Amino acid sequence: MFVTTLDARLTDLYEEMVTLRRHFHQHPELSFEEQETPRFIAHYLRDLGLDVREDVGGNGVVGRIKGGNGPTIAFRADFDALPIQDLKDVPYRSKVNGAMHACGHDAHTASLLVLAKVLAEADLPGDVVLIHQFAEELAPGGAKPMIEDGCLDGIDYIYGVHIWTPLPFGTIGLKTGPIMAAADRFELTIKGKGGHGAIPHHTIDSLMVGVNVASQLQQILSRRVDPLEPAVLTIGTFESGQAFNVIADEARLSGTVRTFNPDTQTRIMEDMERIIASTCAGAGADYDLTYIQGYPAVINHPIETEHVRRSAANVIGDAGIVEMSPLMVGEDFAYYLQHVPGSFFFAGAGNPERGAIFPHHHPRFDVDERAMLHMARILMNAAVETWTSTKEA
Ligand code: MN
Repeated sequence: MFVTTLDARLTDLYEEMVTLRRHFHQHPELSFEEQETPRFIAHYLRDLGLDVREDVGGNGVVGRIKGGNGPTIAFRADFDALPIQDLKDVPYRSKVNGAMHACGHDAHTASLLVLAKVLAEADLPGDVVLIHQFAEELAPGGAKPMIEDGCLDGIDYIYGVHIWTPLPFGTIGLKTGPIMAAADRFELTIKGKGGHGAIPHHTIDSLMVGVNVASQLQQILSRRVDPLEPAVLTIGTFESGQAFNVIADEARLSGTVRTFNPDTQTRIMEDMERIIASTCAGAGADYDLTYIQGYPAVINHPIETEHVRRSAANVIGDAGIVEMSPLMVGEDFAYYLQHVPGSFFFAGAGNPERGAIFPHHHPRFDVDERAMLHMARILMNAAVETWTSTKEA
């Protein structure tokens, strides 16, 4: 009865979700520069009569809906946009030059606000906390400072969802255990000794040292890491040299490392340093390596993932549930799951009929907006599953 009423109310408010999403879509704000979006969110939640905290850990907003003595459940939605020029031809295209909601965080926010509205009218078994997070797209991200500023205090369980165009609308992707990778970044400068291209024996050719380093680094994955452990080492940039007849003084490389297992991550970091040090030493070059650990891996908890599974079965039926393979992209939802049991899942939003055919971070990215209703209904149902199971236990 309880769930049916809330579900019906959410469905009634679908048009409001669309309006909110299109508002955010037209007014994107970049990571750590969010001003109007958190103000809008706080205002909306206060209008619902909620306790609201602003400037949490930076630009975060946290709202609390009072319920009974049952467990407190948090939902998280991120609200930052990307430095991408919106190339879509739709009335709700971004009005900000060079900024765009190209990952669907506008949909996350709209969906959670309307869910808050419905839950605020209900008689809940426990409190619900709405974590509206800034800066997911740019490490070190907003999740960590928000946690440090107390956004998880008193929270028993947490759920989060990402709208996802690689999955068709009508499906829900989930997985227990590791689902998104730890995403690290490195920058390497190789310092040789430049000189005339015709007099190589008086130089240390940084470009050639860089080439050797780049090639040797790939050996880590093929020869040093357990073949059953997923890992990526990508060199994204390589800059060296100025002129055809000059031997380069420096080579600059940057790249990313993706892993799920912290032991594999440590192994790669150590091997990188060793290979770079020995290759440079062999050539008489110096180097400067900066390795920045990004978000840790997102590891879903088994019981809460089962709650999401049952909830998704209620909302879209078993046939729509997709068992996800782990993704090598990163997500700072990882930090919440290090503190509180919970689960992060994906709501299919791909649909050629609605132009939702482009991958995330693409300048023509768009979603089937109906996925917002799935997200809100499944989060709400997962909370009910959680309250029911803890009562039985
Ligand atoms: Mn995202």
